[in-house]
Amino acid sequence: MRYGETGFNLEIDLSRGNIERVETDPKLTELHLGGLGTNTKILWDRVPPETDPFSPDIPLIFSTGLLGGTPAPGANRTIITAYSPQTLLMGYSMMGGFWAPELKHAGYDKVIFRGKSPSLIYIWIHNDKVEIRDASHLKSKGAVETQELIRQELNEPNAQVAAIGLAGENRVYTASIEQGRSSASRLGLGAVMGDKGIKAVAVRGTKDINLARPAEYIELCNDVLKYIKFRNENPVPNVMTILQGLGSPQEMLHVDEAWHTQNFMWGNARTRRKDFWNKQIEERWKDVQETVRTRLISCYNCPMKCGAIISVPGLSTYMMKCFSKLTYTMAAFVDDLDFGFRIAQRATEYGVDGFSTPQIMAFAFELKEAGILTDADFEGCPSDNEGKFYWLLDRIVRREGIGDILADGIHWAAQKIGKGADAYAHNNIKKHEQLPLKLGMLNPVYFLMYATGEKINITQIEGQFPQSPFATMEEREEFISDWIQCPDEKFKQIVLDWEFRGERSNPYYPTVDMSVDIVDWQEKMHYIDDALGVCAGLSSFPLKPPYHMHNYPHFVSAATGIDMDEAGLTQVYNRNRNLLRAVNVRRGLRRADEVPPEDHWKKRFPELEAQLLDAYYKFKGWNNDGIPTKETLQALDLGYVAEDLEQRGIIKNVKD
Ligand code: SF4
Repeated sequence: MRYGETGFNLEIDLSRGNIERVETDPKLTELHLGGLGTNTKILWDRVPPETDPFSPDIPLIFSTGLLGGTPAPGANRTIITAYSPQTLLMGYSMMGGFWAPELKHAGYDKVIFRGKSPSLIYIWIHNDKVEIRDASHLKSKGAVETQELIRQELNEPNAQVAAIGLAGENRVYTASIEQGRSSASRLGLGAVMGDKGIKAVAVRGTKDINLARPAEYIELCNDVLKYIKFRNENPVPNVMTILQGLGSPQEMLHVDEAWHTQNFMWGNARTRRKDFWNKQIEERWKDVQETVRTRLISCYNCPMKCGAIISVPGLSTYMMKCFSKLTYTMAAFVDDLDFGFRIAQRATEYGVDGFSTPQIMAFAFELKEAGILTDADFEGCPSDNEGKFYWLLDRIVRREGIGDILADGIHWAAQKIGKGADAYAHNNIKKHEQLPLKLGMLNPVYFLMYATGEKINITQIEGQFPQSPFATMEEREEFISDWIQCPDEKFKQIVLDWEFRGERSNPYYPTVDMSVDIVDWQEKMHYIDDALGVCAGLSSFPLKPPYHMHNYPHFVSAATGIDMDEAGLTQVYNRNRNLLRAVNVRRGLRRADEVPPEDHWKKRFPELEAQLLDAYYKFKGWNNDGIPTKETLQALDLGYVAEDLEQRGIIKNVKD
């Protein structure tokens, strides 16, 4: 009997129309847990590194996490992986909602798609019955609309449906996969899904999930629920509102946007409006938000209600959460929040990433202002800011005219446009658009997370360590007094000593070694969440969450029967981290790629940045080019990876 997981994957060959239920190797669960860990292993094993992201050989994997669908609150993430057409590296994106728990209850841990369908299809998974169905009647339909149409067609109101819109069908590199209460938006996995000819994957499951020690597990879950209640009633003091609680930033609840509108850049990541926010705007935005927000909603088995159903008069309803509330508004320089809610409805139906897409459009208009793109490229484009953005969004998702070039994202568009266009790519790392947060002084911890994060986007790589110092010693002492999540006393001392100014302030404090330690802790929590399928909003992302390094091993043990402790979990994290790095190293990732945007901080320190990277690589057991050494890989049971890298000459002549 398998516990926590089902022990079976669905393998669907779209070229042949073949469907198989395949038993998985429990040893791999011990080595990698599940979710991101086992997805990475499959990608390593099955795909030669030279494979194109749109090759039929690329497996597109929809995975549950090891704890997904169990009673653990927030264990609902669907981890989707392939190669990203945008970065050409491994792309992984996560969505909440209900899809993964439904799949687990249908009796599968993952669905692995290979090949390409010759025509547009959707998949219907209903426990043991799995069908490939014609989707020609759904062509060009919206991603949200498609979900409802499929539920009606199947007469299954409880089916969970993950779908793409027109952007995915047209292989737009920022195409998302939308699912009721969430979406997997980053790194263009919707384009890979569209390339395979999959319009949607619908699932309904009614089977049980076995737990190794159910009574103990339920007790652990109850402790988590108690902590969530406590934290909701006792917000973390002395930090900004969005960091005080749990969940993904509660953007649908809060209307105080002083911090985002004044600190994030407007337009094409180049203009700060320090005096934007005022009482009148706050009143106006509050009114708009409360009018269109019909109710707050949660993902499967979570009390946090991070998302909202948005209903703009005259438009069909959709789900929104987090910072996408502001991304279009700020990129288009429109002062009305109402515009953001309206255009996001169209963008959600098209199925595009709400972080990258507005920036791509702002980039295009900056190129036009600079004379690099011309009036001919924008023939028929309205002159007002709102109209311009709607016009260009339509062209991008349809790949019409200049929209066809922009549909590949800022990096690739700049290469095609030439004429110095790449100087206007203000905000990319590893060919991917970041949040337009530009700061004054280099922050060493954030420098490392931005530069080296394999997830590649800034959201959800930060975590349980404060983002900035506390003003007074009383505040610092108060913060550490109930910091049960802290894995080591040394982090408490850093919080006590960290100042806004002087020797113990950014960029030289936290010191290089401390910064590496902090980043390792944050990364560890994210990698564990992504393998277990637990929402980062209850674990790696907030300052004081209910899941942490001290209770996670108990969850793994009670759910699966695997004997797990903190050292064991750290070993799994290191294994998964290094395997993912090796996948990307085999795809060509090197130190030269690990560079945050040039103007990301006003004050840069090249020497310090080099020291930070050196120390981080050393800590990880990587060489100076960011490549894991043979010894590191062998110590993590990844000897086969070392052999492969050696055969390819990647680690042959490298000294440790
Ligand atoms: S914390 Fe928020 S985003 Fe996470 S599972 Fe709960 S409702 Fe969903």
